[in-house]
Amino acid sequence: MIVTASLLLSHLTSEVSKDSLRQTLTHLSTYPTRNTNTPELEKAAEWVASEFKKIPGLRVELMRYDVKKGRRVVADKSVVQVVATLPGESDKKVIVGGHLDTINLTGDPMTAIAPGINDDGSGVALTLECARILSQKRWRNTLVFVAFSGEEQGLFGSGALAEKAQKESWKIEAMLNNDTVGASQGPGKLKDKKRVRLYSEESTDHNSRELARFIEWETRGKIKGFSPWLVF
Ligand SMILES: [Zn+2]
Repeated sequence: MIVTASLLLSHLTSEVSKDSLRQTLTHLSTYPTRNTNTPELEKAAEWVASEFKKIPGLRVELMRYDVKKGRRVVADKSVVQVVATLPGESDKKVIVGGHLDTINLTGDPMTAIAPGINDDGSGVALTLECARILSQKRWRNTLVFVAFSGEEQGLFGSGALAEKAQKESWKIEAMLNNDTVGASQGPGKLKDKKRVRLYSEESTDHNSRELARFIEWETRGKIKGFSPWLVF
């Protein structure tokens, strides 16, 4: 059992393509901004959807939701985000996502430059790459890949998806959110190529902390030179 999981993990990680990650980031860097208020966000979402559509087996949806004028939102608006589903043997869902929208906190929301390649183009590139690799195999759980919007305005996109999930009675096993991954430098000028910070919170409503511990345990010693670092 351990050998199988170990082989599977090393096979999956060996499939990760630097070129394909770079390609996504290079394309995302061509939008001067992907602020949720701007038309560029829509264009970027359509592009991400078209990339998901190239992957066999994925059902791709441009999901719409409304935001109200307020903090960091210049006017009432219908906003789009991308949800791509890989059906599994069961309807239990594992969600993987990153946020497509970006922000420049010092400039005009509509025009200030905000390519957001670290935050969070990196999370979107990872999500697309996960979809590309994981779609090559059939899984027990249904996998849902999401490029969120409205994150910088107050997690509006993930809120809208949570509402949809509740309305449709989704059975969610886990949600893995990826924000600013593979950054060359972390807080306190920390540089560490060998670990990924895995954040979780203590809660009576869900098992986030247990999920983090499970991921650390399942991957311990199985990915050469790389491991999760639990941040509570
Ligand atoms: Zn972010």
